[in-house]
Amino acid sequence: MAECKDIAEEASNILNGDLPFRKRIALHIHLFYCSCCRNYIQQLKQTIATISVFRPIEKDSTDMSALAKQLQELAKKQ
Ligand SMILES: [Zn+2]
Repeated sequence: MAECKDIAEEASNILNGDLPFRKRIALHIHLFYCSCCRNYIQQLKQTIATISVFRPIEKDSTDMSALAKQLQELAKKQ
């Protein structure tokens, strides 16, 4: 079973979706019952979305929710 430290260690992989299936499930189960880690991931998502508006990530594996956030941020500025 995943623990808080696993979430912290794998945070960027969670956001990129760059994890083996079983590990991803284990981490998401942890996120389901651990509101601390849920908040942590949420904040990280927002931070990444904000940063990537200024410095686009050159990666094919674009996280769709991060992309949606970027577009929302851009829309706000126009
Ligand atoms: Zn946790």
